[in-house]
Amino acid sequence: MVLYRNNGICPKCKTNKKIFNQSYCKKCKSIYRKEYYLKYKEKEKQNNLRYYSQNKDNLLKKHKTWCKTEKGEESIKKSNKKYLNKPKTKLRIKLHSQKPRVKLQRWQYRQKNSSKLLRKNNYYKRFNQDPEFRIRIRLRSLLYISLKKYIKNGKVMKSKKYGINYEKIIEHLKPFPRDLSNLDIHHKKPLFYFKFIKPNGSPNLKEIKKAFAPENHQWLSSNINRSIQHRILLK
Ligand SMILES: [Zn+2]
Repeated sequence: MVLYRNNGICPKCKTNKKIFNQSYCKKCKSIYRKEYYLKYKEKEKQNNLRYYSQNKDNLLKKHKTWCKTEKGEESIKKSNKKYLNKPKTKLRIKLHSQKPRVKLQRWQYRQKNSSKLLRKNNYYKRFNQDPEFRIRIRLRSLLYISLKKYIKNGKVMKSKKYGINYEKIIEHLKPFPRDLSNLDIHHKKPLFYFKFIKPNGSPNLKEIKKAFAPENHQWLSSNINRSIQHRILLK
């Protein structure tokens, strides 16, 4: 090891004394470090950019499929919520809605779509007042959610095409308990016992019809329902 080269004077600036055991003085060393860091940061950035531009299609495809996974959906929902809850965003939305141009646009939209909006309004009214209507929607979403898990290619068809009759299910669920808020519509034989998809990938209509037969539905407290599912999954 060569110590005190140049009589202990920094070879770079040639004025300051260098640090013991180091090649440069304190000042030069810190400048050198900063430069080194920036250089590699820039390099890293460029590497990333190059990698992105070379694999753009693949990466976008990967991202798209990730967005559709449960994990991806959850994380997107989370980040959206976080963004919308920021005071800055809230203020921006508020200010945006107060602009005359935006106000006019909204007024025009309401004028143009009055019948559509009325229908929407009636939907909410009925949803709040008619329990049968609400249950029908719950059944529909239940069917959609559970079939969507299995049908990966193609759309989920309307219930009639699967031979599912909501009216009969609703009749079976009558009389409705008084408080529906803590109750779930539960399948006596859990849905994962059924094979909704044939080996060739097409939907197995017989099994779907069996799973959504009126007799397979019952009211159950949400907590119990969850614990039963949990127990079945654990077994
Ligand atoms: Zn120096």
